Amino acid sequence: MSETNNNSSNLRSPTGGQGAPVHKLENYITGSWITGDGDGQLLYDAVTGETIAAATTKGLDFASILQYGREVGNASLRKLTFHERGRMLKVLAMYLMEKKESFYAVSYRTGATKADSWIDIEGGIGNLFANASLRRKFPDLPYCTDGDPIGLSKGGTFMAHHLLVPKEGVAVHINAYNFPVWGMLEKCAVNWLAGVPAVVKPASITSFLTEAVVKEIIASGILPQGALQLLCGSAGDLLDHVTAQDVITFTGSKTTGLMLKGHKVILEESVPFNMEADSLNALLLGSDVTPGSAEWDIFIKEIRKEMTVKAGQKCTAVRRIFVPEQFLEDAYLAIGKSLAQTVIGNPLNDKVRMGALAGKEQRDEVKANVQKLLSASQIVYGSLDSIEVIDADASQGAFLSPLLLLTEHPFQNNAVHDIECFGPVSTIMPYKDLDEAIRLTKKGKGSLCCSIITANDKIATEFVVGAGTHHGRILVLNKDCAKESTGHGSPLPMLVHGGPGRAGGGEEMGGVRGVKHYMQRVAIQGSPTTITAITKQYQPGAKGIQSDVHPFRKYFEDLQVGDQITTQKRIITSEDIDAFAELSGDHFYAHKRDTNFSGTMFEKQVAHGYFILSAAAGLFVDGSDLGPVLLNYGIDELRFTKPVYAGAVLTIRFTCKEKLPQDAKPDDENDIPKGIVKWLVEMLDETAEIAGIATILTMVAKREQKR
Ligand code: NDP
Repeated sequence: MSETNNNSSNLRSPTGGQGAPVHKLENYITGSWITGDGDGQLLYDAVTGETIAAATTKGLDFASILQYGREVGNASLRKLTFHERGRMLKVLAMYLMEKKESFYAVSYRTGATKADSWIDIEGGIGNLFANASLRRKFPDLPYCTDGDPIGLSKGGTFMAHHLLVPKEGVAVHINAYNFPVWGMLEKCAVNWLAGVPAVVKPASITSFLTEAVVKEIIASGILPQGALQLLCGSAGDLLDHVTAQDVITFTGSKTTGLMLKGHKVILEESVPFNMEADSLNALLLGSDVTPGSAEWDIFIKEIRKEMTVKAGQKCTAVRRIFVPEQFLEDAYLAIGKSLAQTVIGNPLNDKVRMGALAGKEQRDEVKANVQKLLSASQIVYGSLDSIEVIDADASQGAFLSPLLLLTEHPFQNNAVHDIECFGPVSTIMPYKDLDEAIRLTKKGKGSLCCSIITANDKIATEFVVGAGTHHGRILVLNKDCAKESTGHGSPLPMLVHGGPGRAGGGEEMGGVRGVKHYMQRVAIQGSPTTITAITKQYQPGAKGIQSDVHPFRKYFEDLQVGDQITTQKRIITSEDIDAFAELSGDHFYAHKRDTNFSGTMFEKQVAHGYFILSAAAGLFVDGSDLGPVLLNYGIDELRFTKPVYAGAVLTIRFTCKEKLPQDAKPDDENDIPKGIVKWLVEMLDETAEIAGIATILTMVAKREQKR
């Protein structure tokens, strides 16, 4: 093993020529760049076949890597608030965007075209941006609540809430070869926002690109020490050292996934294991779509894209195409015609739309799997043996022609629903009716995503409800959304990615949902005052904090959750209700004096709910002069729980419920440093019962820069 401080990737200079020593990728562990022992696994340029590097982790102490992550990385990250972690992600994303061209240069060597690399590189960085923005859904604390408060007693002195705290371990990501950048960043963005560090083990064959990105991440100094470690090569005995506080994610083949999932230590320690494996994703053409229609063209375009982007090496790519039986021939002929326009070759050539597979071994595996399918299918487009490429030598690069297969009897052919050809391969099949189509999509035994192309919302509904059990995501595509659609194959940071059954049974991303995978949920029971202190959210029934200063006179920093006032009283009169009806134009029967109320839910003229809230504002607002409260930001919730009749006496209990800081906009000279404050407005009548309850929001200036 040797340690270096070199932060630049050697991949920019040619290596591995005849007799030249092969450059060894470096592992970033326990705060240093270290090369493993031995020769390592040779890695090749997917286009030229040239040897470009070797990957080895031999000799590394895997136990100490995890320990370092827990003791150094986790200790720093868990102390930061969600907002601090989110801002860190944003700064990192902006930094990596500036370096992106150097990543593209390396990415071409994985066989990826510019468009493929965009998905991998900028798509990956996009996940950092998306999770950075997600911080606003969380409090400015290292932990958060989950769900609503739960009352547990009649007297209101005993209650519960669920709390999420960052796990004390490490996120171990074992990734597939197809997205060396996105695969790392889509996962790390989430565990970092949760306050957990990562150990990333990319698939060896494309790990040279992951290494190039990690070099920049580490060089940036944006992440705290220990937040990210990288292993280029075998995972060694890493999994022997995981504990219950760690989380493992795996993307790759079902065989490896199942083997790892059954690891003794993972089972004994109950380590969460999120698996994303082979997925026989389907696309269905609705029976309402006819050749020549707008949706037909969308269908052909989507299939071509799914088969050729990343040369079909996408976990979400369409492997099975179902079309109404009467259009089977039209469909495969049209798809073939479209595929024929795809220029294949060296990704560095601008005309090229499909590059090489990640390696020759991967190509051989795809071919072997196609051979298995051919016992009950036939090729209707493409060839297993010949391919035309531009600007490249087909015998040196891992090129493969797109292959469209046809299976006429999909219920009799199980292989087509079982075998994932991880390349530009898809099989088209007929169906008779929607019920049959739904059953066919389910024969994949669980997939990451599925699409239906239809302009008929009744068909769409029946399909989604019928097939939803077997797919992680369903896209309904038609001319209304096609132009702006992100497409069948794109997992999105705010949507759940993962699927049941064969797809691994896992879930990743999904916005706030994903962050929770790295946090421990714990139910907290106690008094409302204690739960308020812990959650930093005012819980109904908790003791309020009384002071001589009206809360509207306090700057953001000075306000405390629980700051409370009880207002003067106001009598609600019939004249008030009449006047509000005139002013608003709301003459609903319940608000009129002369209504015959027999048989209604009311006894007599009722005040408008919005009048009660307005009257409440009249009671709790303090500030005819300029003060820290800048503006009314809106209402989160509003309930009218009891009719307020003319003659009722209204009092308001007004409490600071939660504080949400907002980032300053340094480029906006009119911006005022500020935060959002949530207030609980309890509208009490003369019996001290709650007649209405609301959570209102105001924007409150920070003291640091008074106007
Ligand atoms: P593998 O299952 O072989 O490898 C996936 C990851 O697991 C790699 O990082 C690999 O590392 C690692 N790994 C392998 N063995 C072990 C082990 N014993 N302990 C710890 N880690 C291990 O999948 P590939 O990436 O090679 O892809 C193979 C097939 O998987 C594809 O042909 C395709 O069918 C499927 N696949 C499915 C995807 C999906 O999301 N649906 C995505 C990608 C692939 P190393 O590279 O060093 O062996």
